[in-house]
Amino acid sequence: MKAFKNLLKSSLFIISLMLICCISQAQQLRKMEEQPEWSKDYPPFRIVGNLYYVGTYDLASYLIVTPKGNILINTGLPGSDTMIRRHVEALGFKFSDIRILLATHAHFDHVGAAAAIKKATGAKMMINEFDAPVLADGGNSDYVMGGKGMMFMPVKADRLLHDRDTIKLGGMQIIALHHPGHTKGASSFMFDVKDPHRTYRVLIANMPSILSETNVSGMPGYPNVGKDYAYTLNAMKLLQFDIFLASHASQFDLQKKHKPGDAYNPDAFIDRAGYDEAIDALQKNYEKRLAEK
Ligand SMILES: [Zn+2]
Repeated sequence: MKAFKNLLKSSLFIISLMLICCISQAQQLRKMEEQPEWSKDYPPFRIVGNLYYVGTYDLASYLIVTPKGNILINTGLPGSDTMIRRHVEALGFKFSDIRILLATHAHFDHVGAAAAIKKATGAKMMINEFDAPVLADGGNSDYVMGGKGMMFMPVKADRLLHDRDTIKLGGMQIIALHHPGHTKGASSFMFDVKDPHRTYRVLIANMPSILSETNVSGMPGYPNVGKDYAYTLNAMKLLQFDIFLASHASQFDLQKKHKPGDAYNPDAFIDRAGYDEAIDALQKNYEKRLAEK
């Protein structure tokens, strides 16, 4: 009886330790302001060929399916892993087949669930060399939002990406384009996708938006931020592609181009004019912000 009581005591002790551990891990994260569209559900769908939308209403996550396993680009907020998993499975794919995790930049609304998904799938995390330190400290070294604690669970990158590096898996070749400014390592991704009719060049753009706290004349943690924004705006104007996608659904007007339940229609995402207009607006915003200081 005494042995049983002791066993009970020690199991209770272990359970409470585990609980405390879980709670304190969740509490470690700094509470960030979130928009409701960031965690609102959105039905997953096939964009083009082997590329699928598996994100939330506004936080885009993309699944690229290959015979050698799958690639997931962006993971939404901390906690979005449950929804992304549900989306991947609803499309008929295995969550555990995710082999590579990519991110357009290391902010809590795009890499929030990366740690959880990496843990669940064993996928290799690849991110631009300049965002890797921010990813590794939960966002605390971010030049604008950092310094006040972790905003997401940290992830140590398995591979550091540089401008124009290629990520290869199962016949796919994804080119990482370094588009710094929004973060030091912000990146867009470009790749070709085939369907029975044609080949499409896809751009997943990290649009160079500027946070209100950013001083484009230079930040203590990022003296060249203004120059980098100028470089990125220029580089992005020169890109050639067919399909325009981005980190946020609102940045490429997903909801206007696709309604839940719509039939497969990749051409709905061919939108050079919309892209040029968006880059133009960001250019004007950059110039306005530069003149303010
Ligand atoms: Zn961001």
